Amino acid sequence: MSTTAEEGKQQKAFGWAATDQSGTLSPFNFSRRENGDEDVTLKILYCGVCHSDLHVLKNEWGFTSYPVVPGHEIVGVATKVGKNVTKFRVGDRVGVGVLVGSCKTCECCQQDLENYCPQIIFTFNSYNPDGTKTYGGYSDMIVVDQRYVLRFPDNLPLDAGAPLLCAGITVYSSMKYYGMTEAGKHLGVAGLGGLGHVAVKIAKAFGLKVTVISSSLDKESEAINRLGADSFLLSSDPAKMKSAIGSMDYILDTVSAAHPLLPLLSVLKVNGKLVTVGLPNKPLELPVFPLVFGRKLVGGSDVGGMKETQEMLDFCAKHNIAADIELIRIDEINTAMERLAKSDVRYRFVIDVGNSLSQ
Ligand SMILES: [Zn+2]
Ligand SMILES: [Zn+2]
Repeated sequence: MSTTAEEGKQQKAFGWAATDQSGTLSPFNFSRRENGDEDVTLKILYCGVCHSDLHVLKNEWGFTSYPVVPGHEIVGVATKVGKNVTKFRVGDRVGVGVLVGSCKTCECCQQDLENYCPQIIFTFNSYNPDGTKTYGGYSDMIVVDQRYVLRFPDNLPLDAGAPLLCAGITVYSSMKYYGMTEAGKHLGVAGLGGLGHVAVKIAKAFGLKVTVISSSLDKESEAINRLGADSFLLSSDPAKMKSAIGSMDYILDTVSAAHPLLPLLSVLKVNGKLVTVGLPNKPLELPVFPLVFGRKLVGGSDVGGMKETQEMLDFCAKHNIAADIELIRIDEINTAMERLAKSDVRYRFVIDVGNSLSQ
């Protein structure tokens, strides 16, 4: 792959990158393209730390191309806008999520489902059409085609709002697509991490009854008292699971480790839906009997397209929804990654890029 572009048509950028499978991040100088006619340049202020950053850093999915600058929950201020840019002005609060490009012509792109485009360009660890690599938000600035830039509502906090760009849209889009938003219905949220805790908040805003399903009892009071869930179900307690059989309309499964689906399918009502948004490394076993005899559905869902991501941001702003975060400096990132690997974070690390990343 060529990484050269004409001299003078590049902007200097600075970030933190991993150069090998250890995943250890360290300062890294690189360049980004000059702001084109369709582009918006962002000065990055905050970037969320998603679990997939960690997977890619350590090449756990097998397609990492080093050096890698992670980060796809990016919030900042527009510092340059191209002459064809109509949606944004210099000084606007803007965000960039999981993708920075797609083909714009396929069926998915035409249906505002750019995230499912076969030619999707991810915000990091991907390639631009000119052969240059994409680098993510653990960096001081980024240049992005206006189609993939989001308006960040005024009343949404820049730091705690950043994780909505991946975690938020992942749960919002799945709930919308699978029709899991009907007020009064009962939703189980399996797993209470970065995705799960935002799912609880978004589900409550839709008017759902929410039960957090988790194997760790110490999440009970957090789920109910801090996040506003209606109840808690300890998945490691067979008696409690038995008493919950047939009680839920939907389950959003955010667990990213391999786990059995049968207990979750059992707590669904007839016609219940289980949608998985976590990405376990190993395939899950699919028990067919409960599906057939209860007309139950198992589905999956990724982040949303640009239009829906904007809709989600506006929805969260209206309902005062943001992530619960631990704000860190960039030089704390390697320690944060170690903690993230142990799920030791309440509930999302966000890097204070604007105040801690400098050469
Ligand atoms: Zn993510
Ligand atoms: Zn496309």
